[in-house]
Amino acid sequence: PVVTRFAPSPTGFLHIGNARTGLFSWLYARHCGGKALLRIEDTDKQRSTKEAIDVIFDGLNWLGLEFDGEPVFQSERAPRHAEVAMKLLDAGKAYKCFATPEELAEMREQQRANKQPMRYDGRWRDRDPSEAPAGAPFVIRLKAETGGDTVIEDAVQGRVKVANKELDDFILLRADGTPTYMLAVVVDDVDMGVTHIIRGDDHLNNAFRQLQLIRAMQGIEDGWDEPVYAHIPLIHGNDGAKLSKRHGALGVDAYRDELGILPETLFNYLLRLGWGHGDKEEFTREEAIALFDLSGVNKGPSRFDMKKLANMNGNFIREADDARLAALVAARIGPEADEKLLTEAMPVLKTRARDLGELADGARFLFAQRPLGLTEKATDLLDDEARSRLATISQRLAAEKDWTTEPLEANLKAYAEDLGLGLGKLAQPLRAALTGQTTSPGIFDVLVLLGRDESLARIDAQAR
Ligand code: GLU
Repeated sequence: PVVTRFAPSPTGFLHIGNARTGLFSWLYARHCGGKALLRIEDTDKQRSTKEAIDVIFDGLNWLGLEFDGEPVFQSERAPRHAEVAMKLLDAGKAYKCFATPEELAEMREQQRANKQPMRYDGRWRDRDPSEAPAGAPFVIRLKAETGGDTVIEDAVQGRVKVANKELDDFILLRADGTPTYMLAVVVDDVDMGVTHIIRGDDHLNNAFRQLQLIRAMQGIEDGWDEPVYAHIPLIHGNDGAKLSKRHGALGVDAYRDELGILPETLFNYLLRLGWGHGDKEEFTREEAIALFDLSGVNKGPSRFDMKKLANMNGNFIREADDARLAALVAARIGPEADEKLLTEAMPVLKTRARDLGELADGARFLFAQRPLGLTEKATDLLDDEARSRLATISQRLAAEKDWTTEPLEANLKAYAEDLGLGLGKLAQPLRAALTGQTTSPGIFDVLVLLGRDESLARIDAQAR
């Protein structure tokens, strides 16, 4: 059975690129009917605060990515990591390196001067530890392969290889006995039974070393099977440059809170970012699970397009349940918002909005206190002539028994005809009086949503 894992490091953000990695890992496991595991790589104690870890859980939760079992915390597994390093040492697949920091600095300096690639030269690989001064600190390094190539059949990148002479004997255990990232990742993946490692292609270089480590452990312990690697290309900005803040390299929480994106939009957008199925644009979760596979992941980098995301969000807003949107919008407006009224108004409010912020802006007039604040444009519309017409409109509408769109429309049309004006000439100042703005849903919808009393009061407040 397929086992995937998502292994974010708590940085304070669930970066959008990481979220996509999480989505792909989760989807692939669901597609295969396997397990999607979560591992928090919290070995950097300073960054791995509870808040930083909760940001990850929150973001995944919001996106609806539920992982299987309890999350694994990498920091808790340090003894096991050290155990593996010791087993490699005992088996002669790793060795103690007593090189001092000064010595290594000098080695690098020389390599730099000779324009050689900078890598550990293996100076303790074949030396006996007894040659070191008693009690000298040491690190444990993997005795890496020196000849031939390490080849990976990557499920996305295809066949990739590196000459082993380019990989040095990397450190497994530091002098203070703590595991390196390289060791921890591999031991955790093996112990978690991970069969498919889906992650950003910035980790491709690590994969060769990680594979060597796995091979070194084969024959020492059971279960060290080689996983399938799938390194997914990074996300670029719309201009092809590396994704920066300006392009949308934000945390998932910023998409939710600041940009007012719905989770299903981000889910769908991230899915489409580097994966496709024909020219289908929108996928339900069920469709995504049924159709997602690694062969559909693009080899080239994908481009993040904020406009496309906004348009997609508009579509999802229009498809979303009105009561749900009302709750989301009410939270943005504040305690004065009435969810019931918002739900009623939602069909006309949501026709244009591309994010929840716009939706809330378009809804605020419903809960505005009299006297209404007017935008500058709205004030300009309310000249003396317009205000005196509002007085007439107020009288005419007050006589209307049936406060629904059709009779209200007929009423106002008749008045416009009397004046020899287009309906818009009356509707615009009326809109200004009712909403304080020059854009709003259709004016008759506005009248109905506000109700007779509130509508007339708002009109009278501006009439002369
Ligand atoms: N913790 C690493 C990161 O956040 C991922 C490690 C991995 O997937 O192997 O970039």
